[in-house]
Amino acid sequence: MTTLLYSHPICAEHETGPGHPERPARLRAVLSALDDPAFAALERREAPLAERAQIERVHPSDYVEAVFAAVPGSGTAHLDGDTVVSPASGEAALRAAGAVTAAVDAVMAGEADNAFCAIRPPGHHAEPDRAMGFCIFSNAAIGALHARAAHRVHRIAVVDFDVHHGNGTQAAFWDDPDLMLLCSHQMPLYPGTGSAGERGAHGNIVNVPLPPGAGSEEFREIYRHVVIPRLRAFDPDFVIISAGFDAHYADPLAGLNFTEADFAWATSEILHVAEHAARGRVVSTLEGGYDLDGLARSAAAHVGALLRP
Ligand SMILES: [Zn+2]
Repeated sequence: MTTLLYSHPICAEHETGPGHPERPARLRAVLSALDDPAFAALERREAPLAERAQIERVHPSDYVEAVFAAVPGSGTAHLDGDTVVSPASGEAALRAAGAVTAAVDAVMAGEADNAFCAIRPPGHHAEPDRAMGFCIFSNAAIGALHARAAHRVHRIAVVDFDVHHGNGTQAAFWDDPDLMLLCSHQMPLYPGTGSAGERGAHGNIVNVPLPPGAGSEEFREIYRHVVIPRLRAFDPDFVIISAGFDAHYADPLAGLNFTEADFAWATSEILHVAEHAARGRVVSTLEGGYDLDGLARSAAAHVGALLRP
């Protein structure tokens, strides 16, 4: 297997201000873990800037304009209560989305089996017309719509195991029967959406909320009985993973108790479906994860599974 690793130094220059959990040290922790000799086989690539047209498949032009207009020349500014921008944030957001679109291109071209995008800002809370929850552009949804537009890949699934509901991806996918979101998350928790009754206009949204305190056993059970069977039944041509690691037991923002081994296991299960349905074509993109050590070890376990399914 060949696995690509997309990142860019500017993603660690996206400053969010003192005490903010979505901080540059997160990305440094992930990249440092992937510097281990165990990951020597990763092919490292610099994330390009996404093109405006790629962003605007999900986000209206006036929203994109408003984001860039809000980027300050110095200091920080708020896009919403907890989404902060600083001078590097515009380029970081473009490279975060650009990592995913470039990874889609590379995997579709057969240059690699799969890819991991070590980027920030994360994306899954960003709705088409508003920034939310540390997210500016909806990176996974942009990747999905790019796969369709540039490669005529028809059916695309996003599997999201971040501890928070992927409301932004859900909003982008809601009306399209060929875009499926399979999302497990803690409930109740930010952003408050993601009940099992939210199913999309065509039954194409699969929300699987878990109660606070749920751990490995509950996670693997919903994967065995809901997420993986629904993914297989959807028969995707391409799979994107919204890889948030804040369901880890050490995470300070939530109350689930997953382990690194759970993330590796879930990754292998997703890859197994993708091998049969989608010729193994998988692109994963970093979402949350706020305990630096838990994040680093979880991301390493996830990428290890991408390398050795
Ligand atoms: Zn999260």
